[in-house]
Amino acid sequence: MEAEYLRHGVPLADYQLTKADHRRQREAVQVHEWVQRQLAEAPPWSDERWEEMRQLLGSPTPPWELQRWQLRLYCGHVIEATRNRNSPRPDGGVCDKKRCPDCGLDPAVIVAFEPLGPAAEPPAESHSLRSSRSTRQPPADRRSKAELVAENNALRAELEVLRDQA
Ligand SMILES: [Zn+2]
Repeated sequence: MEAEYLRHGVPLADYQLTKADHRRQREAVQVHEWVQRQLAEAPPWSDERWEEMRQLLGSPTPPWELQRWQLRLYCGHVIEATRNRNSPRPDGGVCDKKRCPDCGLDPAVIVAFEPLGPAAEPPAESHSLRSSRSTRQPPADRRSKAELVAENNALRAELEVLRDQA
């Protein structure tokens, strides 16, 4: 059974920003600036430290565990992105914003979204493994794991950006 994917603010091309969107964007910018200030004051990381962090984050999620989404960002650009397939919406937790690849606005909060489809077909054996597991696990556990994986992916992306800046 697939997750029930939600949509918000469709059609994405006609979406009008709300007061709540402006507030979320302001908050995201404040958090971003705070993090930048903390980073500027923190001592630079050694190569060992970067390697440690990369190992902590583990390996990237395989494509068949991902769902493709169309996202409209605060700046008005509509982009495509992937999220863990168990997440019913693409803007949970730390994934509610990203850097716009079109205009460079960073952060840009997600204001509207629409599900597109799976990123890849699952390999046969991993599919049967997952369906037998999903009958035993309560939904709450699956959701929290999905959120963890999504946060993990976001952290890894953040880490690569920081690494480039260091
Ligand atoms: Zn943009």
